[in-house]
Amino acid sequence: MRLGIDLGGTKTEILAVGDDGLEWLRQRAPTPVHSYDEILAAIAALVQAAEEQIGTHGSVGVAIPGTISARTGFVKNANSTVLNGRPLDRDLETALKRPIRMANDANCFTLSEATDGAAAGRNVVFGVIAGTGVGGGVCVGGRLQEGPHRIAGEWGHNPLPAPRANEFPGPPCYCGRSGCIETWISGPALARDFGQRTGRSLSAAEIHRLAIAGDSAAMEVMEDFLDRLARAIGSVINILDPDAVVLGGGLSNLPGLADEVARRAEAYTFMPETPTLVVKNAFGDSSGVRGAAWLWRPEDVPSALPR
Ligand SMILES: [Zn+2]
Repeated sequence: MRLGIDLGGTKTEILAVGDDGLEWLRQRAPTPVHSYDEILAAIAALVQAAEEQIGTHGSVGVAIPGTISARTGFVKNANSTVLNGRPLDRDLETALKRPIRMANDANCFTLSEATDGAAAGRNVVFGVIAGTGVGGGVCVGGRLQEGPHRIAGEWGHNPLPAPRANEFPGPPCYCGRSGCIETWISGPALARDFGQRTGRSLSAAEIHRLAIAGDSAAMEVMEDFLDRLARAIGSVINILDPDAVVLGGGLSNLPGLADEVARRAEAYTFMPETPTLVVKNAFGDSSGVRGAAWLWRPEDVPSALPR
């Protein structure tokens, strides 16, 4: 049995997957956001409860909203800030008495979709998270490619490609630079762009609906958003030439987005003979917890699980 845990900003979810690939159990608990020790205890309690209910021990993979620094071994870049600077993977290994695997939640999303989701059977897969922030991940041959700095796929902090005069230098980003892709194609960026042009405060989904209904300001904002997204993905395609790009995050729910991106990105890639496959995710919000379980493949689940 494999256990996947998605440690989110407000909720922590556990999923148990049998060796047959079937989901045996899924449970959620609130994330204790203010205390690192309480987060450790909450994860341990979820694992213990799941194993008691099922009657066997499993491998444990964990998706986190950040990454383990390859240099320090501590969590960095987590928006659940009590995790930052802590050796979460080692502390969980001690608490759970077994080796565990841990990866960034965008990477787990990509692994889930590449394993048995919208990009199943594709060799090189680029997973896109576009929501509150913009992140991504890379899978090759069903394996995550994290890189020596564990930043593979972090395209959200590249500069927006081919900026127009009115897009330079671009909005300041929390990473310290200006004009990052994240400052142009996240949900808040879309809302900001619409707000600056109209003085109105609407969500991305509402702006999209207005554009479909023929509102000229919303149509202009969506046109610029789609063009920027296509430029950003086109530059990834030039470097990676993926077999599939899978769209995830809140913005992936905008109707027709994948087809629009596929069509437009072709214009920004280097003479492709056929368009790159761009698809919407298959598992939505479940991809984090599913990908966490897939961090251990059936053939490499550790034999030394606690008894
Ligand atoms: Zn940035």
